[in-house]
Amino acid sequence: MVHAFLEIESGGGRVSAETESARSVRDAARAYRELIGVLPEAANIDGDANFDRHVLASILSLASSEGGRLAAQAGLTEAELGDLFSRCFAARRIEPSGDGVESHVDADEIEIVRDLLLENRSSEGDCGRWLAAMIARRAMEPNHLWEDLGLRDRSELTRLIGRHFAPLARRNDKNMRWKRFIYRMMCENDGFVMCSTPVCSNCADYELCYGAETGTSRVAAAAQPSATTSRQTV
Ligand code: SF4
Repeated sequence: MVHAFLEIESGGGRVSAETESARSVRDAARAYRELIGVLPEAANIDGDANFDRHVLASILSLASSEGGRLAAQAGLTEAELGDLFSRCFAARRIEPSGDGVESHVDADEIEIVRDLLLENRSSEGDCGRWLAAMIARRAMEPNHLWEDLGLRDRSELTRLIGRHFAPLARRNDKNMRWKRFIYRMMCENDGFVMCSTPVCSNCADYELCYGAETGTSRVAAAAQPSATTSRQTV
């Protein structure tokens, strides 16, 4: 089974810093402040509870800036989204602000990614379950996974995986790019085709899998102007 990830890796759909609108970033930052009370660059992520709220707010804020239905862009059902808001952001609500339309995504592929994450959960409660669905949906977008989750940098995604999906974190002992690593796991489990060779050291895609995951936050980018010069291919 060849999947959309190969198209993503070809670079055809990558959203660059140059083309991503400033308005989208501003809308996302505003939505984040609506949820958390401060701009993303000022977020306090000390402790698990603060960190989880930051991650959820980052995903929702970015998804809300893209247009379309917020639940769909975030990877949740309407019921799950309502539950998340009432339990994590009571009395706060954000609505889609962008002019865009919902992306066409492969529901089967999202389900496979989500199931892989659910099989590797290491936290109790609904947060990890929501995050599995949200990460799976956001993995369909063309940028680095941490960027399309609206996080501030890759280290936040590494912390997120380590906290909620610890078996995956342990298996990524070569520090592979996270989206590539998830699809590598899918290759092993479900017959997806990403690898052209069984051995990474012989592979022409080595840099795609193990290169640095630098880039610019899609939610906190306004506070990181110097980072815009360091974006690389997914
Ligand atoms: S570098 Fe390794 S994991 Fe990446 S595509 Fe090649 S064989 Fe697969």
